[in-house]
Amino acid sequence: MRYFDPHIHMTSRTTDDYAAMRQAGIEAVIEPAFWLGQPRSHVGTFEDYFRSLIGWEPFRAGQFGVRHFCTLSLNPKEANNSAVAPGVFDLLSIYLQKDAVVAVGEIGYDEITPDEERYFQLQLELAQRFDLPILVHTPHRDKKRGTERSLALIRAVGFPEERALIDHNTEETLPLVLETGCWAGHSIYPNTKMDESRMVALVKRFGTDRIIINSAADWGVSDPLKVPKTAQAMRASGISEEDIETIVWHNPATFFSQSGKLDLCTVEQPIDQTQLWEGNSVLRGQAPTPTSGALSGKETV
Ligand SMILES: [Zn+2]
Repeated sequence: MRYFDPHIHMTSRTTDDYAAMRQAGIEAVIEPAFWLGQPRSHVGTFEDYFRSLIGWEPFRAGQFGVRHFCTLSLNPKEANNSAVAPGVFDLLSIYLQKDAVVAVGEIGYDEITPDEERYFQLQLELAQRFDLPILVHTPHRDKKRGTERSLALIRAVGFPEERALIDHNTEETLPLVLETGCWAGHSIYPNTKMDESRMVALVKRFGTDRIIINSAADWGVSDPLKVPKTAQAMRASGISEEDIETIVWHNPATFFSQSGKLDLCTVEQPIDQTQLWEGNSVLRGQAPTPTSGALSGKETV
């Protein structure tokens, strides 16, 4: 089965991860812009980060047979940093136009501050202006209140709910999201957020409609193979192949296709690790591996 991980921070991962992901059947990923673990002190570092998410990282993924798209934003945590927030917000009007950008995100609440709310609303308006869907991060602490306020703000702004993906859901927040027209993401983590068996129970209870799973793997303790591992847990529990494929491929493809920019229908082409990106390759002087895991070019949504 082919898999789509629609929330993974590959910038923080290695080529071994890409190779293992492709081997496990992950054919497409979306990398949301987010916090890099320590506060940034210049707007220019965001610009180079955005440029890497639309340039080097898709190239690097392609060298291992994985399609890579991204979402861009001023992330909730750094919305509180007044030294960079206005400048990063201004950059978005340029970079949201790029072909590889399939949503505005991660946006939302972290500590639920007035600055977070202001930039959340501004970026909802920006997404409407650029006709893009949104990816909404929900906070680790006070998740229920953060989710309720996110849903309320989306409604107050008049943002179309079917174009909003509320992420990092739990048993407590999923029913709130499904009451609206929004989609519901779940980050399957080794120890926190959500795990495979809890996700299986949620699918058995709520079905597959608007349900999405991801690994949210990043620079911290996380696992880039959580989408195929969760699919395996679903399979072992008797959930049908059709339902699994809905969750791990069709749902993320359908949601992000609303951008008009999610081009998953590629012509079959071999991986060529001798290619260069601005003069640089992933090989670091080593011999290319044989053309394993060529991009498949299968039908998409
Ligand atoms: Zn994330």
